[in-house]
Amino acid sequence: MTAPGIDFKEVRSAALRIAGSLIEAGHETYFAGGCVRDRLFGLSPTDIDIATAATPDLVREVFPRAKGVGASFGVMLVPSDGCSIEVATFRSDFAYEDGRRPGRVRYGTAEEDAQRRDFTINGLFEVPSDGRIVDLVGGRADIDARVLRAIGDPEARFEEDRLRMLRGVRFAARFDLAIEPATEAAISVRADRLGGVSRERVGQELRRMLADRGRVRAAAMVESTTLDRTVLGVPRSSEASGRFRLEAMPGSAPWIDALAAWELDRGTAGDAVERLTPGLVLSNEETATLRALLETRRRLQEAWETLGVAARKRLAATPLFARSCDLLATEAPDLVAEIQRDTAVLRSTGLAPTPLLTGEDLKEIGMEAGPAFGRILTEVYDAQLEGRVRGREDAILLARELGEPPASPGGDA
Ligand code: ATP
Ligand code: MG
Repeated sequence: MTAPGIDFKEVRSAALRIAGSLIEAGHETYFAGGCVRDRLFGLSPTDIDIATAATPDLVREVFPRAKGVGASFGVMLVPSDGCSIEVATFRSDFAYEDGRRPGRVRYGTAEEDAQRRDFTINGLFEVPSDGRIVDLVGGRADIDARVLRAIGDPEARFEEDRLRMLRGVRFAARFDLAIEPATEAAISVRADRLGGVSRERVGQELRRMLADRGRVRAAAMVESTTLDRTVLGVPRSSEASGRFRLEAMPGSAPWIDALAAWELDRGTAGDAVERLTPGLVLSNEETATLRALLETRRRLQEAWETLGVAARKRLAATPLFARSCDLLATEAPDLVAEIQRDTAVLRSTGLAPTPLLTGEDLKEIGMEAGPAFGRILTEVYDAQLEGRVRGREDAILLARELGEPPASPGGDA
């Protein structure tokens, strides 16, 4: 585990020191899992996990300041020079009770520890001192062949922990791997049984997939394995075709923007906010963002050309305007180019200038606070945005006019 803001070199040297001390104390110890995989794919890992034969008590003998994190799973956090490294005792997991978490663990050998891991690419060990790979699961060959394969019997492994189905898709997409046929078949047959996995974890996996550069591949695999029905809560609309919006999203787009594009591609965006807020356990901010993106995109597409200056300025001043434009540009680039030209012109007279009048000003000129207040302020501000009132005097005149009781229509008497 890495603390934010810590240089990876420091993490690596801390990990080397910790592993070195464990080995010196006579305990078989390796770098394990994701960091070994990342290195073999030529990427710089984000953290280093250590696996060791030492039980937590023995780890604490070597590092008195080590703290148990998942103590019951034999995971210790060893502090070293401002960062902390996870040190996990070799173990074999068993008795998955809820299709998600091992009920108990038993400490074991390096071999057993490799076997309990999910995919062969994640089951490798590295000798800390010289970088040699210890491969007890055939992961090296799979990395070379670019294959994602469950360790052991895929059916059993996905039954033990259904979240692995999503992890598998995430890794295959991230490293551009083909899913080995038996592994893929085992996912497809139980894709509708993600139940038992908490929605929070499903949401977390999807976030990571869509934040990654392999997001288009991830979306394609989530759909081809039919995981989409359980992950997103509905099948693709039969009228939808392709994923062209998601494909056209800028690589730097945040995951929630990618999700909006994908929902549009799937033809299911209509109820996306209500469905995905609980379905993916979105934060309040994520929900608000998804709603604003979809709503702003729709207004831009359906109404921009008919909106007046004030309405355009109000829309262009909303926080998610630029991102909504990016979303719409995936299908209507010409319209977005026009919107951007229009907006540049509008900006020259201020998209959201400070209002010339406030409620206080209305009270000062003797108007009584009441329901009409808000309407008058809005109308005066519209006039300001459109350049029909240019100063405070103008604005007050207009407010007075708007505050007068409507003249009774002539000829009514
Ligand atoms: P990431 O870059 O996503 O963190 P990672 O491989 O480090 O990738 P972690 O979730 O941090 O993934 O897990 C570390 C290691 O623990 C994995 O490489 C894998 O060996 C093992 N592991 C994690 N989750 C599972 C699981 N659900 N089932 C089996 N093994 C797992
Ligand atoms: Mg990790």
